[in-house]
Amino acid sequence: MRISGYSGYKSHGVAAAVALVNAVTSRDGDDSEDALRGLLRDHGFFWHQFEPGHAEAFREWGRVLRRFFEATDLEAAVDLLNEQLLSIPMHPHLADHGDPAGLHIHYAPPSAVLPHRFRATTLMNLSELVCEYGLNRTGVCAAEGCDRVYADTSRSGRRRFCSESCANRTNVAAFRARKRRS
Ligand SMILES: [Zn+2]
Ligand SMILES: [Zn+2]
Repeated sequence: MRISGYSGYKSHGVAAAVALVNAVTSRDGDDSEDALRGLLRDHGFFWHQFEPGHAEAFREWGRVLRRFFEATDLEAAVDLLNEQLLSIPMHPHLADHGDPAGLHIHYAPPSAVLPHRFRATTLMNLSELVCEYGLNRTGVCAAEGCDRVYADTSRSGRRRFCSESCANRTNVAAFRARKRRS
């Protein structure tokens, strides 16, 4: 039983947002059609509905969301989210398509195309995260030379890196620096 914490299906749009921003805007990111299709599949979206014509809409959304992850001022981040919430038509409804998620909320109208549904879900999940934690759970990786973003939906919420490898690299560098000084 899950006792508390922000995890599970509610946050799947948060992880998808991170993956998209990194695919589109980071130096080593891959935002090819194949990569986007894989990203959608990995995050439980209807990837088989992806059409080549959707790629640019996903890339554009990745660039918009990057601004959110880079925001260091809560007011600016909220303005950005509100601006998008007003411009993306929502039509919440319950859905259950038989996967482990069970019954859950879809935010876009049922007839909406895939990029629109993706925008609605990622935007709502990020907004919920901000209501709960402000900007303490999202940001740009603290490792030197890394431009990837992260979101922390764990209970402890102490994450500052995009990956284990960035965290390890930074810790090793700090350890060496301490050793040099001593
Ligand atoms: Zn669904
Ligand atoms: Zn990193």
